[in-house]
Amino acid sequence: MAKFDVAVIGAGAAGMMCAATAAQRGKRVVLIDHATKLAEKIRISGGGRCNFTNINAGPANFLSENPHFCKSALSRYTAADFVALVKRHRIGYHEKHRGQLFCDDSAEQIIDMLKDECAAGDVHWRMPCKVSSLAQADEGGFLLQTDTGDIEADSVVIATGGLSIAKIGATDFGYRIAEQFELRMVEPRPALVPLTFDPQQWAPFVEMSGIALEVDVETGSFKGRNPTGGRFREDLLFTHRGLSGPAILQISSYWTPGTPIVINLIPELDLAATLIEGKGTIKKQLGNVLSQWLPARLAEGLLLAHGFALDARLADLPDAQLRKLGAAINQWTITPNGSEGYKKAEVTRGGVDTRELSQQSMMANKVPGLYFIGEAVDVTGWLGGYNFQWAWASGVAAGQAV
Ligand code: FAD
Repeated sequence: MAKFDVAVIGAGAAGMMCAATAAQRGKRVVLIDHATKLAEKIRISGGGRCNFTNINAGPANFLSENPHFCKSALSRYTAADFVALVKRHRIGYHEKHRGQLFCDDSAEQIIDMLKDECAAGDVHWRMPCKVSSLAQADEGGFLLQTDTGDIEADSVVIATGGLSIAKIGATDFGYRIAEQFELRMVEPRPALVPLTFDPQQWAPFVEMSGIALEVDVETGSFKGRNPTGGRFREDLLFTHRGLSGPAILQISSYWTPGTPIVINLIPELDLAATLIEGKGTIKKQLGNVLSQWLPARLAEGLLLAHGFALDARLADLPDAQLRKLGAAINQWTITPNGSEGYKKAEVTRGGVDTRELSQQSMMANKVPGLYFIGEAVDVTGWLGGYNFQWAWASGVAAGQAV
């Protein structure tokens, strides 16, 4: 039987970071993954360039039933620490938007960097390798049965991620281990995902597919649990089935099924007040007036959807109607019927309940030696490099503790 100090299950972002950290401390580490190709999620991330962190990452950028849980790990391994590692490996990078850092060339460079860091600690690899059972050994530690032979380890780190994108290897392994050891879970749900609408409700908007514009979007669903609530100014994209783009991916993480989202399609403008004020001076047709601020196709579609004639003249419309139109555009309130699901979701919200884990070490309080890190845990980052920063920080926290 092969014996190790630490067995890390899942060689994704968090697992490789954890294995490298523990191994460079002198621990004998085995890193196990069932996939044939290493770290596919890193490879496809950020459109192939991996948005590997966000220089502004802090606890307010994460959702969790316990928003305080992530503070310790994030403060002990920061975006600046990861940037220093990237620089040490001479990987070129640039800032794209609001603190998001991307590789200049390819996400492969981040995978190679993590592989090198594992090699520096002499991490043993088992890949592809399926773990069929994990049990506590009578004499302490754990026994793992795998299709490449049994393993004994003092500590086990579960880094198998969430449920997003099963075709590149996502499984519920982490959740099943949590269940086996009677650890509570926060219900997993697709997050950072496009939202869909009832086809009948969406029919007037199908033709707008492809239109993109900057909006404010919010939902009340998560208020109180997160200091920032769910409110973002980002780009919105109309699709055939619903809404996508960064604004919607962000709000999807906060959205609870059955509740509406509220979109301000012209965030810088009080539309009703502007239209009422302009009645005396603007002689144009309503469609032309609106297309100053909105793509013409969208302005027309919105007017028709709200029962306005395209050739109605602003000056002829009663104030009450203009207020109605203002509200429809400044506070477009719509209730999605669902999301595009785990096939399209960038991450999974929910996971192993943080109340079961130590925020310093990521170890399960009632199962000494068993750790959970990365996306498997109920800590979900915003779009923009935050999820990788959580993977690195939680991986380092466990890697230093095992
Ligand atoms: P993963 O990286 O998913 O790794 C889990 C590993 O566990 C995988 O290698 C998997 O094969 C393995 N595994 C699963 N089940 C088993 C099992 N039963 N046995 C053995 N091994 C198993 N985040 C950002 O911050 N920036 C981005 O640019 C970004 N882009 C993304 C783009 C896409 C398309 C997607 C889907 C996600 C993106 N993310 C991004 C999110 C980010 O990839 C994840 O949050 C992050 O990879 C989570 O790290 P992890 O190590 O917890 O899980």
